[in-house]
Amino acid sequence: MGKTGAEPEIIYEGIPASPGIAIAPLHVVARGFSAPEVYEIDECEVGREQDRFRLAVEITTRQLIELQSRLEDLSGENESGIFEAHVMMIEDRAVVERVLGAIASRLQNAEFAFYAVMQNFLEAMRRIPDPYLRERTVDIEDVAQRVLRNFSLDSEARHLGPDDRHILVAYDLAPSDTASMNRRHVLGFATEQGSVNSHTAILARAFGVPAVVGLEGAVIDVMALAPAILDGYTGKLILHPAPDTLERYRKLSDAKAIVRSSLDAKRGAATETIDGRAITVSANIEIVDELPLVKRSGAKGIGLYRTEFLLLNGEEMPDEKQQVEIYSKVARAMAPHLVIIRTLDAGGDKIPVEPLTDPEPNPFLGWRGVRVSLARPAMFREQIRAILRASACGKVAVMFPMISGLSEVWRCKEMVRRCMDELTKEGIPFDPDLPVGIMIEVPAAALCADMLAPEVDFFSIGTNDLIQYTVAVDRVNPHVADLYRPTHPAVIRLIKRTIDAANDNGIWTGICGEMASDIRLTPLLIGLGVEELSVGPQQVASVGQAIRSLSYAECAAVADEALRHTRSQGILDLSMVLARKHYGELLD
Ligand code: PEP
Ligand code: MG
Repeated sequence: MGKTGAEPEIIYEGIPASPGIAIAPLHVVARGFSAPEVYEIDECEVGREQDRFRLAVEITTRQLIELQSRLEDLSGENESGIFEAHVMMIEDRAVVERVLGAIASRLQNAEFAFYAVMQNFLEAMRRIPDPYLRERTVDIEDVAQRVLRNFSLDSEARHLGPDDRHILVAYDLAPSDTASMNRRHVLGFATEQGSVNSHTAILARAFGVPAVVGLEGAVIDVMALAPAILDGYTGKLILHPAPDTLERYRKLSDAKAIVRSSLDAKRGAATETIDGRAITVSANIEIVDELPLVKRSGAKGIGLYRTEFLLLNGEEMPDEKQQVEIYSKVARAMAPHLVIIRTLDAGGDKIPVEPLTDPEPNPFLGWRGVRVSLARPAMFREQIRAILRASACGKVAVMFPMISGLSEVWRCKEMVRRCMDELTKEGIPFDPDLPVGIMIEVPAAALCADMLAPEVDFFSIGTNDLIQYTVAVDRVNPHVADLYRPTHPAVIRLIKRTIDAANDNGIWTGICGEMASDIRLTPLLIGLGVEELSVGPQQVASVGQAIRSLSYAECAAVADEALRHTRSQGILDLSMVLARKHYGELLD
């Protein structure tokens, strides 16, 4: 960390998205493929600008090769095609020559010369009537954007070696950026866009990387390489921290490390309330990379495997054989615990399904989740067959996202039956008793839970979506973030209604939305009667400890009172009273 105290301390306020403290220099990533700043250069600077361009291309090539090998690790197969094509694109001699020429003849800075050449190229491609070539413009734009971003990296890279730890600041990060970031060097990240329940934030929590989102205007203002503190607990980015601020945060960081190590000591212990009610604490995962974290966390299974992350980096869904390998790996790693594999939930703020339909005006209300699967029976069938085949290697359940009514459940179950018949005929082993569950995340499903419960083996409440659809607040829009209230009385009633319907039909209910990870709410959720909490791998230990500290009878009384309460804050406060009383030291 550089010199502190010379510059005035500046505090930016954002939304805390992943807890933790990072103390390191900033590394600012410029915004996407929009026109960069243009400025004239002297003739004597031509060589230097040309070198900057070459370096940006070199950094990009290195990143693409690294991404390629990560993807291979992820899928266990050689998926290198797309990145090889990307590397060829940026190393294309014609493009390189044209950019070098433009820098020399127009005397413009390297990033603008590159941008102008790529824009001409993209416009020419967009005019070609061939739809295949037109689609490739998306790839070109993607690579060009990466090169542009690396111009800002290059100037810093001279100071910031590849091994230096830093806080990443960006306008926005796609879930794929977050999944592929170098977690050894990125100690935390801050973005102007995003919200607590975006998939980027969920991944940050999964990896235990402190994050702050919704820092409006910060990216344009902040200085690259400035010493900084990122406070993922309260959502602050502090630039040029004063010595006493630095001291305070160092102490806080040490204190948190002590709490963490005491939790670590209890990892894997039974998660039962003091009056004997057992609650399963399982983990949510997005990518197979998270398995070691989950194993270390002591989670008793995977309560939600978000398979749409297989589409990371714009890839097509892996074929049945590849999926069998991936799912079997997870099932084997977690055995004898249950792994709940959720079928594709692409769309919304997530990864799009290829090839895309026309852009949707309301993606969250559109072609998403099980709607896509049911509309693509061939793809759906491959996924169900793969999940069934993986069930021969461990304890596996299938779960369907975005269910809005009974007919969707019937159609999903029909696909499961059909795939079971096929596998039986083919002599391929699977678990004939594979549990079938559904997400309760559309208010219609919660309201009709009594109709759905007799059809399935379990419910898992997706509170992230249930809240956004109940209170009509886009879960990733920072402008309405304050209206996104997990303890809104309507949400609590829907959870209660779902659990009651499940109990009446002898099935269990879990929660796999982010509410499950929030230990301020553990008393309320236990009191409402949930039997499983599926949380980010980093939260398994604290949620487990919260459960062990509580009494179910006390929680049930709080839940009863909460159901009569009229205000979100009041309901939160009720739960907080128990949380503070029994595990205040764990609260942020
Ligand atoms: C949810 O909606 O709460 C959920 C767990 O699913 P996702 O966040 O993947 O939409
Ligand atoms: Mg959801």
